[in-house]
Amino acid sequence: MRIAVLKERAAGENRVAATPETVKKFIALGATVAVEEGAGAGASIGDAAYADAGAEIASAAQVVAGADVVLGVQAPDPAMLAGAAPGAWVAATFDPFGARERVDAYASAGLEALAMEFMPRITRAQSMDVLSSQSNLAGYKAVIAAADRYGRAFPMMMTAAGTVQAAKVFVMGVGVAGLQAIATARRLGAQVSATDVRSATKEQIQSLGAKPVFVESVAGIEGEGSGGYATEMSEEYQRAQAELVSAHIAKQDIVITTALIPGRAAPRLITDAQIATMRPGSVIFDLAVAQGGNVEGSVTDQVVERHGVSIMGFANTAGHLAADASALYSRNLYNFLSAFWDKEAGRPVLDEEIGDAVRLTRGGAVANSRLQ
Ligand code: NAD
Repeated sequence: MRIAVLKERAAGENRVAATPETVKKFIALGATVAVEEGAGAGASIGDAAYADAGAEIASAAQVVAGADVVLGVQAPDPAMLAGAAPGAWVAATFDPFGARERVDAYASAGLEALAMEFMPRITRAQSMDVLSSQSNLAGYKAVIAAADRYGRAFPMMMTAAGTVQAAKVFVMGVGVAGLQAIATARRLGAQVSATDVRSATKEQIQSLGAKPVFVESVAGIEGEGSGGYATEMSEEYQRAQAELVSAHIAKQDIVITTALIPGRAAPRLITDAQIATMRPGSVIFDLAVAQGGNVEGSVTDQVVERHGVSIMGFANTAGHLAADASALYSRNLYNFLSAFWDKEAGRPVLDEEIGDAVRLTRGGAVANSRLQ
């Protein structure tokens, strides 16, 4: 079985879908691996390291020729995959709800698209979950980027010249990214508070030494839907949440927002009027900026100044830590394909639970219930 690893072509994408470590492991399973020249450059991995691991280094067309499985971070244009084996698998992120035309193009090309962001949230798939591995790094990087922008220190410092006050950090949305943002801000010495619609997160916030800030006034609310994801909240809840945020945010120096709802635009959590109540020099990092943004006025990959407050957010925050992000992403892909490795077939054979969840296209058609 031939595995192809292409250089990422999306603007600003520095990650790569295989590392020398995973190349070696795939070869140990009996696969051959071909890596495009320069594929690892953005993640500080040279061609020689892949070659030492046993990969063939070649041009994109040569790498793809006869490939049974193509690995990607962001799914390549299917036109690049014309030389792959008929029905070849492409394991990558597809943004299936946002980039539907690409899914249709994969179907037309007869390719089997496997969307890593559709990995089910079940215990045995945790090690295959690219959303978790990348969100974790993104939560860390958001705090580091905000701290860098902030013109003050994070920890309290008692010096001969007087005391520096600890920064107050507020994290909105306590999933994988939010938990890492809390932990990172705490490590830097900030006073941290956090909120979510899922009440199960209260204990997690406290266990990290942060203060939970929750809407208690709306009865019967539990914002947890299927697979641990949040649901869209009622208007009554949204009003109560806006009031709570207004009262709290005016006293915060740094706000990190991470709230996402699968298949929908990110919920708006902070308005321009609320930003106006913050102290000049404060920083907001909107981790949901590319999904429509949690913060009014946030613009992807830009720092916007509003009322003296910096609003920032990257399209691809994990990609700003390309080496670690690539290492974790590549292991997720290896864990996924190796878990289903069929020794006799010499290739992976997916089971129904995970295969049906991640497979977007097969046999020339779109084949995923979430897209129907
Ligand atoms: P996510 O990226 O989908 O959303 C980020 C957070 O924003 C979530 O906690 C969500 O509840 C919150 N949110 C949504 N709307 C909000 C609003 N209006 N106001 C405030 N907060 C809002 O979430 P995630 O990081 O992917 O994690 C969600 C849950 O799934 C977590 O409990 C996580 O531990 C779990 N999970 C399990 C697995 C697994 O078992 N394999 C893998 C990944 C995540």
